[in-house]
Amino acid sequence: LEVPDEPIVAVIEGDGIGREVIPVAIRVADRAVELAYGGKRGIIWWELLAGKKALKEKGELLPKETIEGIATVKLALKGPLETPVGSGHRSLNVTLRKVLDLYANVRPVQYYGAPTPFAYADKVDFIIFRENTEDVYAGIEWKAFTEEARKVLEFLEREFGIKVREDSGLSLKPISKFATQRIMRKALQWAVDKGRRVVTIMHKGNIMKFTEGAFREWCYEVAEKEFSEYVSIGEEKPGKILVNDRIADNMFQQIIIKPWAYDVIVTPNLNGDYISDAAAALVGGVGMASGLNLGDYIALAEPVHGTAPDIAGKGIANPSAAILSVALLLEYMGWIEATELIRKALRKTIESGKVTADLAKPGEKALKTEEFAEEVIKAMEGL
Ligand code: NAD
Repeated sequence: LEVPDEPIVAVIEGDGIGREVIPVAIRVADRAVELAYGGKRGIIWWELLAGKKALKEKGELLPKETIEGIATVKLALKGPLETPVGSGHRSLNVTLRKVLDLYANVRPVQYYGAPTPFAYADKVDFIIFRENTEDVYAGIEWKAFTEEARKVLEFLEREFGIKVREDSGLSLKPISKFATQRIMRKALQWAVDKGRRVVTIMHKGNIMKFTEGAFREWCYEVAEKEFSEYVSIGEEKPGKILVNDRIADNMFQQIIIKPWAYDVIVTPNLNGDYISDAAAALVGGVGMASGLNLGDYIALAEPVHGTAPDIAGKGIANPSAAILSVALLLEYMGWIEATELIRKALRKTIESGKVTADLAKPGEKALKTEEFAEEVIKAMEGL
């Protein structure tokens, strides 16, 4: 008896270029799986709605069945969703990560041969673990001049003698021991499983002692107490994973002047947001940056980039970030042969100069989204 091995992956196409890059990434993944397993494995893609499409068809931006669907099948691929700046609805991405408790945002930064002015690009190969549920992203905010903000200001002055200008907007930055330690655990486990050499804690603990400073301490505690047989704290030792830390601002120059010294980076939410876009720029920009949101049981893959309203609808977006995100999901599922096939083919395609407009040099021919994906598929078939 041959039981079909067909997992279900929930798909949210998303807004803007999501509708262009996600279908293409699925096509590449299907072909990779077919080639790697000779038709013995396959994936059932199950479309769920969120964003503008959900609003149009269901009358709400994030329907309950979308959340329940992902929670049930536990594997998902998602395109970017639009978030208006300032007033308007809260980020759907942040809401999704929160309600599904996808607390680790895992972002590999690796060079795939894209044209770049950065001389050390081929030395870049690290992975960022961004805490996904806390920090100033928790959305605990008070708008300036409102009754609520005034109450908070009065409370601060009355209870702690802290005087803050009355025309201030306010925001809380919660960083808990619980959330810090579970992301550090994920990062360390990843390092152990994948044979990584260094885990660096990135923080701004010199200034924000009880949030980012505590983050640093709690991370070290997990390394010492739970991973002692695998790690060495602060100094390199043969056969051990080095665990060290860097102040966040220094980290930005470190990944440029010494990218080879970094391997796994673990950091609170806001630092993680900034450093992952900056890191993506070293290897070709956000069009190349993939991501995986992980909880204890759920994995949701998504490109790091947004809806790119400036190019949406033109069919010119770079699908590499979405393709690499699918590859990450396949890796998470343990489908390593298909994962490797996609990564090798993508590298081969880009190295041979076939790129989309974001990576093309001035005056050079650029491929459209679909044409690029066809080239990746051709490259896979030739491997
Ligand atoms: P963006 O990533 O959409 O665009 C930034 C720049 O990068 C633009 O010039 C864009 O054209 C370019 N770019 C992005 N992806 C590209 C690709 N695949 N190929 C080629 N070029 C690409 O960032 P933004 O403009 O700050 O945000 C636009 C919208 O997306 C906002 O509503 C924002 O909230 C949302 N957003 C969503 C997510 C998410 O769903 N996870 C992430 C970031 C931004």
